[in-house]
Formats: sequence, C-alpha cells, structure tokens
Amino acid sequence: MIGLGQKPYRGRQIARWLFAKGCDSFEKMTDVSKSFREILSRLYSVDPLLTLQADESDQEGARRLLWRLSDGEMTESVILKEFNHHTLCVSSQVGCRMGCRFCRTGSMGLKRQLTQGEIVGQIIRARELLQPSPESLTNIVFMGMGEPLDNAENVLRSLKIITSPDYLAFSSKHISLSTVGVVPQIQALSEQGGLKCGLTISLGSADDDLRSSLMPCNKSWPLQKLKEALLSYPLPKGRRFTFAYVLLAGVNDSPEQALLLSKFLTGLKSKINLIPFNPWPGAPFKRPSPEATAAFQDVLLDKFHTAQIRSTKGASVNAACGLLAASQPVSENRIAERA
Ligand code: SF4
Repeated sequence: MIGLGQKPYRGRQIARWLFAKGCDSFEKMTDVSKSFREILSRLYSVDPLLTLQADESDQEGARRLLWRLSDGEMTESVILKEFNHHTLCVSSQVGCRMGCRFCRTGSMGLKRQLTQGEIVGQIIRARELLQPSPESLTNIVFMGMGEPLDNAENVLRSLKIITSPDYLAFSSKHISLSTVGVVPQIQALSEQGGLKCGLTISLGSADDDLRSSLMPCNKSWPLQKLKEALLSYPLPKGRRFTFAYVLLAGVNDSPEQALLLSKFLTGLKSKINLIPFNPWPGAPFKRPSPEATAAFQDVLLDKFHTAQIRSTKGASVNAACGLLAASQPVSENRIAERA
C-alpha cells in the first residue's frame, strides 16, 4: 500500500477484509474509496489459491478436503467434528521428505512447500464450508501433509495471521504444531522464546534403532539430542508437550517399548496420544489389537503418565492420521467440484 502511495493503515484495512471477513473482491471493501478500489481491481485480483477438488465425509464427522493448487499440485485438509466445534487439520507441504514408514504422505516424497497464503487459505476456505457457523472452527492442528518445521518460515508467518486478533483471531491455546522433532528448528524456536501454540512430537519408538528404522529423521536427530532440545524449550505456562505414538502391531506395541517410552519422557512435561495404526493398501504394518493397545496404555498409566488412546476418525475417507496422500476421492460419485 505504501508503494501505491497509501498510508500503512490501508494495508491493515485490506488485510482485515481478506483474512477476518474472507472477502473475495475489492468491490466489496466498502470502507475503501471507490476510486482506490478501482485501482486495486485493475492491478490485482483476490485469488483463493485453493480450488476444492473433493469434499468427502464419513459417519464419524471427519470431512476430507482435497485442494488443487494454482500449479496443479494437490494437498489436503481435514475437518474433524468434536461435539459442538470443529478442528481443522492443515497441511504445510505437498508431500513430505521425512519418509516415516507408517505414514502414507511419507511415501510421496516432498513435491513442494506450501506458501504462507496456501496455509492460511485452507483455514479461510474451511470456514466458508462451515457456513452458517464458521465460528464453530475453533482449533487448528498442523498435522496434515508435511513436516511443519521443514517449512518453518511459511508456517511461522502463517501463524501470525492465524492468531492475530485483527485477522483470523484463533487462540494460540487452540493451535498445535506436530513435528517429528527437527532438532535445529526446535533449538531456533527456543532462541526466539518458543511458540505460544502447542507442540506435538511424533515419536514412533523410544528405542534409537527401532525409531531410525521407522523414522529416518532419527538418524540425524537421535532421541538424546531430541530430548535435550525439548528440555531447553520454553513451554508456555501450564502447557505440556504432546507425544504422538503410532502403535504398530508386533513392532513397537510391546510392554517393553512402553517402558522405554516412559523412561524417555522422564523429566519432560508430557501427555501421550496413542494412535493405533490406520492401514492403507500396501502398508507394511498392521493395526494392533484393542487388547495390545490397552496393555501398552496400562504400562504408561502405571508409571503415572497421561496417556490417551485416540479414536480413529476419517479412515473411511483416507482422512485419518497418517493417511493423507492427496489421492483422488475414495468414491468418485462423492466428488464435489466447487471452484
Ligand atoms: S508423519 Fe509427518 S513428518 Fe512423517 S512422513 Fe508423515 S507427514 Fe512427513
């Protein structure tokens, strides 16, 4: 706006129209003079960046949104219904280079980073889809496609817009960023005072050899280095780290593995989400039995950890944890093309 001879407040005014009100045309920005709106319309267009390619729901209230980006790449978001509010699981990349073997996205490799606009755009467009109650979208989790700390610059910039009271106005308390534990980025965040939002660390195993075989990132940032980085991380007051542990039948679901996890967590403020594996066609792992899952949880509870078993939502539409792969819709007749 300064480049166009305007005062800085004009930029904030237009940003409010775009982000807080989801305005899709300069014409509708009624507190901007008509002559300046005409200049803006001549010079720029409001581009939603994401075209809804498919919108599928399952009976448990998970809604998988498949987005086509302006260069033809695809990414996904998932809306999860929880009682009277919604959580949006957003993607930060197209694909992912981390290669976690239990994750379908990991098998794609990294295609490209999502821009700040494409990250924020997922939220704006999800709000549109939740009309007439866009305010029911209260929680954001960076747990879609991609490793957020492998695209830290754009993710951190998007967080500013997402949490700004003038723009999307989400509470940091209701945002969580999920990472495999990119140690240099965690250290960089610590130096900057840490994030106000929550941090979830995907663990997979608390045994270095097993973790390295499941999550190649562990070769670069082994468990001890990860723990040191987390111990130095300035958690916001009253918050704990969340550790996500995908349970794989016969691989990392034994009571011995639970004891190793308990030992790793000693000294860390933590809670644990146990996620029974969601199989996909050709996946090299199986889902553990409910009994094995419960036995793993019992070991942790006996050691006084907070450990929950997460219910699987969205598996029937490939929207459950670890299943996002920008695949075409599960059922062709449920495609909803909405430009
Ligand atoms: S679990 Fe996350 S970091 Fe690992 S491959 Fe999947 S998307 Fe990437």
